[in-house]
Amino acid sequence: MAKNIQAIRGMNDVLPAQSPVWQYLEGTVKDVLAGYGYDEIRMPILEQTALFKRSIGEVTDIVEKEMYTFEDRNGDSLTLRPEGTASCVRACEEHGLLYNQTQRLWYTGPMFRHERPQKGRYRQFFQIGVETFGMATPDIDAEVILMTARLWQFLGLSDSVTLQLNTLGSNEARARYRDALVEFLSERKDQLDEDSLRRLETNPLRVLDSKDPQTQAVLVGAPELHDYLDDESREHFATLRDILDSAGVKYEINQRLVRGLDYYCKTVFEWVTDKLGAQGTVCAGGRYDGLVEQLGGKPTPAVGFAMGVERLILLLETLELIPAEVLQTIDVYVCGVGVGADKAALLLSDRIRGEHPWLRVQTHCGGGSFKSQMKKADKSGAHFALLLGESEIADGNVTVKDMRGGADQQTLAQADVSAWLAEHVN
Ligand code: ATP
Ligand code: MG
Repeated sequence: MAKNIQAIRGMNDVLPAQSPVWQYLEGTVKDVLAGYGYDEIRMPILEQTALFKRSIGEVTDIVEKEMYTFEDRNGDSLTLRPEGTASCVRACEEHGLLYNQTQRLWYTGPMFRHERPQKGRYRQFFQIGVETFGMATPDIDAEVILMTARLWQFLGLSDSVTLQLNTLGSNEARARYRDALVEFLSERKDQLDEDSLRRLETNPLRVLDSKDPQTQAVLVGAPELHDYLDDESREHFATLRDILDSAGVKYEINQRLVRGLDYYCKTVFEWVTDKLGAQGTVCAGGRYDGLVEQLGGKPTPAVGFAMGVERLILLLETLELIPAEVLQTIDVYVCGVGVGADKAALLLSDRIRGEHPWLRVQTHCGGGSFKSQMKKADKSGAHFALLLGESEIADGNVTVKDMRGGADQQTLAQADVSAWLAEHVN
């Protein structure tokens, strides 16, 4: 017998039973985004490798060890996108969406990173991302954060996530801080973990991100980023905080929050939960005013974030926050038993759909006894089953059964059943 071929490790199938949850989350996000006037953009999942190297930074986890990079048949180096920001900037630049205008954009789709698969961490995972361009003032930083807070409210997650907030300052301020940090850490090299030692040479701010307890202990006495901030960044941050305070959005200032990508400046933020173990960040973003220029465009202020869809779904499931109606995908199940019943069931179903297109009607196909069809009707989760036997067909009637047991079985004229269902399906 031939051996089964299995999916690639860390790349998941979303099975039919899970799809409604995905649709619920995506639908809710889309509603919130629409409420703020954001437009969708769709980018390819393959890009030239150079795009990610230049934007994310050569010395980052993503570029150093996580990208799916390969040569295509022409010998070009291509990479499956590990995130969406770089592609979005490329697309906007390429199509002239950036200058003398502002953009508020969102996208969703799979991202690819060769990480060690575990709960909440996969090799193909989905993000919903938001990018804004052309707005330098802190109001837009505040808007994107308020928008995420609104989403948590819609999803019932407000009490389960907390906002971590930081400012990285201007590039110059960060460079001054970097020097001070390097000086401090260089005197304590013997206490640093291996990764941090390497980072110290290549990307010292990332040491702040280390999960190693001994390195974290060393960092307690390290110089603080906020002592090195430039006035403009300080003011930008103060305004952002004032808006968040006035809007009642709570946050924690976390000076160690530096994010894993090189392109951020000024505002950075993460929404984290303590309900998912180590993979606690469900949404992360910030300002990246330098990125467009770094990719060959003209200086363009930008703010964005990305949410991890799988992590949000895990969180909704863990907290049992998925509304019951989300999992109910059928309203009416139509059964037919006897001569001519298959055809009659299909025609009646279609008539109902024609008269009330919002009703979700599934027709039983494939024959079988009355009992087996009723089992299927029950399993479908439908509110009502419609039964067509030979006598109903002869009389132009249909029998309606309330699968939730609320009402007695009754027989209606087929001509009346759509209106009856429209009234009784909730
Ligand atoms: P982490 O610190 O968890 O590795 P990150 O800083 O690499 O996250 P970003 O690049 O900022 O993550 O991506 C934004 C969001 O995408 C994360 O907050 C998370 O919710 C999600 N995410 C990132 N990597 C993965 C992954 N491998 N599997 C599932 N979700 C992921
Ligand atoms: Mg990561």
